[in-house]
Amino acid sequence: MIKLRGIRKSFGRQEVLQGIDLTVEKGEVVAILGPSGSGKTTLLRCINYLEKPSDGTIHISDFTLDCKHAGKKEVHALRQRSAMVFQQYNLFNHKTALENVIEGLIVVKKVSKDEARKRGIQLLEKVGLGAKLDAYPSQLSGGQQQRVGIARALALEPEVILFDEPTSALDPELVGEVLAVIRRIAKEGITMIIVTHEMAFAQDVANHVVFMDGGVIVEEGPPAELFSNPKEERTKQFLKRYT
Ligand code: ATP
Repeated sequence: MIKLRGIRKSFGRQEVLQGIDLTVEKGEVVAILGPSGSGKTTLLRCINYLEKPSDGTIHISDFTLDCKHAGKKEVHALRQRSAMVFQQYNLFNHKTALENVIEGLIVVKKVSKDEARKRGIQLLEKVGLGAKLDAYPSQLSGGQQQRVGIARALALEPEVILFDEPTSALDPELVGEVLAVIRRIAKEGITMIIVTHEMAFAQDVANHVVFMDGGVIVEEGPPAELFSNPKEERTKQFLKRYT
């Protein structure tokens, strides 16, 4: 289970997260929706400590990090429990697809090269890239690069995978293949938090939907409820734009 309590983050004088409380059960898929600038990406980056929250606590299963007192050791422990899939893939351009996937296994998890290779190949097959093991990112489409990014996140066997608008950099015809892979791994019971603008996808794949605006969670609930019967005016206005 993941529990965020009182997460705050400011950039200069602007407080972009104003005390976020969120609970994600094991195996749950949570979609975070909201207008541009509402703090969705910042929240995701705080969970992985790519941004340091100014206050709050992050619990991931048995581990708790108090943002006010966390040192290097705690941040390392937190990152062992989560993996991020980025909007712009963030692959190493001088490494092949397979090398990108196994880098974390070898460096972070200290798995032997042979074992890492074996697992890397399985994961790339799983995301439909068994024929592209030795391709470099520049030789792959955006959709294929993002699928390498997903295989890389899976390789670390994290407690939670954080997806930051995983399809927003893709040409429309490539969005479907990436969503299909995410949908497939969601069914395997991996806990996921997904920031997305793909409403139909969120409705279909998420067990729980969170609507953010102005650095707060305005409303959250099961997709059937939030999409068809939103209670808050801000949620209604936002959803109207997508229907
Ligand atoms: P989008 O849907 O457009 O990606 P978002 O909801 O993910 O938006 P964030 O990217 O979290 O929003 O940004 C929230 C606010 O924080 C915005 O006003 C943004 O300009 C500001 N912000 C984000 N990152 C930084 C930064 N590194 N320095 C200063 N301000 C930042």
